[in-house]
Amino acid sequence: MSGFIVSLMWLLLFVGGGIFLAYQRIDLRTSTIATGIALAAYTMLGEGHWLWKLVLWAGFALLVVPNIIDFRREKLTRPLLDMYRKMVPSMSDTEREALEAGSVWWDGELFSGMPEWDRLMSFPPPALSEEEQAFLDGPCEELCRMLDDWEVCHQLADMPKHVWDYIIEKKFFAMIIPRQYGGLEFSAYANACVIQKLASRSSTASSTVGVPNSLGPAELLLHYGTEEQKDRYLPGLAAGTEIPCFALTSPQAGSDAASIIDSGVVCKGMWQGKEITGIRLNWDKRYITLAPVATVLGLAFKLYDPDHLIGDKDEYGITAALVPTDTKGVEVGRRHYPLSVPFQNGPTYGNDVFVPLDAIIGGPEMAGKGWKMLVELLSVGRAITLPSTGAGGGQAASYATGAYARIRKQFNTPIANFEGVGDALTRIAGYTYIMNSAVSVTSGAIDQGEKPAVPSAILKYHCTELSRKVANDAMDVHGGKAVMMGPKNYLGRPYMATPIAITVEGANILTRSLIIYGQGAIRCHPFVLRELNAALDEDTERGLASFDDALFGHIGYAISNLARSFFLALTHAKFSRVPLNTPTRRYYQNINRYSAAFALASDFAMLTLGGALKKKELLSARLGDVLSSMYLASTVLKQFENQGRRATDLPLVEWSVRTLMYQAQEALHAFLLNFPNRPVAWFLRFFIFPRGRTYKTPSDELGQKIVKLMTTPGEARERLSEFAYTTLEPGNPLGQLQEAMELSYEMAPLEKRLRQANKEGLLKSEYLGEQIDEALGAGVINKDEAGSLRDYHQKVFELLSVDDFTTEELARAAPAAESKPAATKKVRRKAAAKKKKVSKKKTAKA
Ligand SMILES: Cc1cc2nc3c(=O)[nH]c(=O)nc-3n(C[C@H](O)[C@H](O)[C@H](O)COP(=O)(O)OP(=O)(O)OC[C@H]3O[C@@H](n4cnc5c(N)ncnc54)[C@H](O)[C@@H]3O)c2cc1C
Repeated sequence: MSGFIVSLMWLLLFVGGGIFLAYQRIDLRTSTIATGIALAAYTMLGEGHWLWKLVLWAGFALLVVPNIIDFRREKLTRPLLDMYRKMVPSMSDTEREALEAGSVWWDGELFSGMPEWDRLMSFPPPALSEEEQAFLDGPCEELCRMLDDWEVCHQLADMPKHVWDYIIEKKFFAMIIPRQYGGLEFSAYANACVIQKLASRSSTASSTVGVPNSLGPAELLLHYGTEEQKDRYLPGLAAGTEIPCFALTSPQAGSDAASIIDSGVVCKGMWQGKEITGIRLNWDKRYITLAPVATVLGLAFKLYDPDHLIGDKDEYGITAALVPTDTKGVEVGRRHYPLSVPFQNGPTYGNDVFVPLDAIIGGPEMAGKGWKMLVELLSVGRAITLPSTGAGGGQAASYATGAYARIRKQFNTPIANFEGVGDALTRIAGYTYIMNSAVSVTSGAIDQGEKPAVPSAILKYHCTELSRKVANDAMDVHGGKAVMMGPKNYLGRPYMATPIAITVEGANILTRSLIIYGQGAIRCHPFVLRELNAALDEDTERGLASFDDALFGHIGYAISNLARSFFLALTHAKFSRVPLNTPTRRYYQNINRYSAAFALASDFAMLTLGGALKKKELLSARLGDVLSSMYLASTVLKQFENQGRRATDLPLVEWSVRTLMYQAQEALHAFLLNFPNRPVAWFLRFFIFPRGRTYKTPSDELGQKIVKLMTTPGEARERLSEFAYTTLEPGNPLGQLQEAMELSYEMAPLEKRLRQANKEGLLKSEYLGEQIDEALGAGVINKDEAGSLRDYHQKVFELLSVDDFTTEELARAAPAAESKPAATKKVRRKAAAKKKKVSKKKTAKA
């Protein structure tokens, strides 16, 4: 063998061995030993010059040093920690609480660059208990049957009384309240299923039911309330004698909710004839769901104690209290009109409302803990109500639009046969499959005890965005039928409602730009939070030891991600480990690849931009997009397993994962294009895209398979709209569309005979009804067949028709809304005055 070949083999041994050790995340000590053995072998057997060998041993010494822990801590870590401490951005309590809320789950695995799939796969598929299933099939179906969206939205601007009574009687408001207080104590999954069904029928009903079962007084009381408070309120909330709402948002504090100026001042006052220490509250809140009909108001305000009646602090920060709405000074009742979807929502004002200290949820010791409570509860609640609303809307849109595209003909062909329409249908089905998977898998994880803060934000953002896309596509496929409002329009109102879900519980632009990655980067990263906590540790020696551990773990992790990202990109991840050898195996591998690339990009972004990354919202948003795509794709794969690997669902799985992973690739590409440090961007591009951007969008052929699945009766179509209200009955367009679609297949041979007869000149008329008579007369079809055809065409005609009105019918004589500035201004002035008083006191003290 020539010297050159031998040298090449040695080189390959070292480089390949290095990549292998890094790829497998072999620990530092083992890697050092392995490198030492290889080097010794080379020194004895290799032909290189002795000087070259000496250089290699000197390099090896650099690898040995970090193994001498005491030396490493003193000489390397201590100076680095000193530098790091100076760089660490200060963190407010609010930020810290947000960071520490919830648990790290599958999001943490994706952040690791090497996801441990067994952790996801070992979760049992979510299932409904007998009681939950009975509720879904009984009261939930019945409520859907009772709802007439035109009556609710157009005629009454509210649900009729018998519907409200039914909701209360059947305890729709008490799904999360434990049985001991009279509630239904449903799982998160069951809660999600109920909301999906209601959302497929009426946005007003799903919003009304969603709120008390999400972030509201019941949830706050269950987690933080005193026993006395629970006993006082929960039975009433379960029975529906108490209607709750939660008021945080104020005119000046929307997304920046922590900046509320609504105040509570600890003071003496009269309560039930006695002088007690209590809180004098002033507030001006808006957009509060259920406020107009609420009997108990969960209120967020800032608590001040200028006279130090409860402690030695002037200011306690955001606090949450329960205030009965019949307390003197509370104003509720007026309504906002959210995009003509008239669920109860309105402002509330409080003018010098005096309540006892034990109105604070959890009692006086929870003063100032309101923000922490809200953030913690959002880490669960955000994953359920709004994502389920999106999924339910998607299910209804898929079911209706697939059938509509089959029965609506243009150019003598069902519009579903046109590729352009098929494209929209494919997106509707694919996005719905993604939403269904995300909701089902994440609510299942919540039922297993997870509080997935980052996935909750991912679901909130993506399910509401996807449902907006689905609504747009469904509108386009329906054309004028969905534009003309009236009782026959089943799409216009849900379409109008989509921005509502986009705006609430963290408006979407903010959620994408600041929360998903902004929170996830520190929370889910395997080392960053540990480094941060170590740097802030008051016991500096303990801090040094933990920082040292985290830092060297972090360095190994970064090197490993470099190797993994490069190797997985070069090989298209074909050799990476997968949990299952199924037709979906390649998708697990694709996620493995993007997980390593994401972890690498993430680390370099944090390293080079530090605290400034928070302000570079678009970079942060794009990294969030990559994380979200991987998370959603993982839930799609898990859902496929949970539902028993149905082969008929494979096109949906393939389309969904391909679309998501393509989006991950494009988001990473855009991140690198815009990364301010260009040399670092080039370096990263080399390790992330050594073969360029190779991931392709789903093919048109795959899209056609999905169109077929959506426009043909069958189990895959039913499963896609599993929780939608599809019962066949008068007034339910989903059931009627399905019936008409099934008939369209039965009638197809008869229609073919009619077409043939027409071609042969047997039929003279242009009108279908007359053609049927002529065909009957000519013996082309028999009497029964003519009857069936007439019945079918009548049904289709009904479904395709739209409403019309006289001008008088359209003009509803509603008086112009009065604005209500006086009370608002007064309250604002008071709140500001309270604040001033406290700060004056502070200044005087200082
Ligand atoms: C129908 C409805 C029901 C509601 N129900 C309740 C309720 O029951 N209780 C309650 O307390 N509140 C409720 N809200 C209030 C809701 O939470 C707020 O509307 C929401 O927080 C956004 O505040 P805003 O509307 O004032 O928008 P703004 O805060 O003014 O935001 C405007 C835009 O700026 C973006 N933005 C703001 N800051 C940033 C940033 N740093 N980076 C990037 N983008 C940013 C937002 O994403 C948004 O797109 C409800 C709102 C609606 C519409």
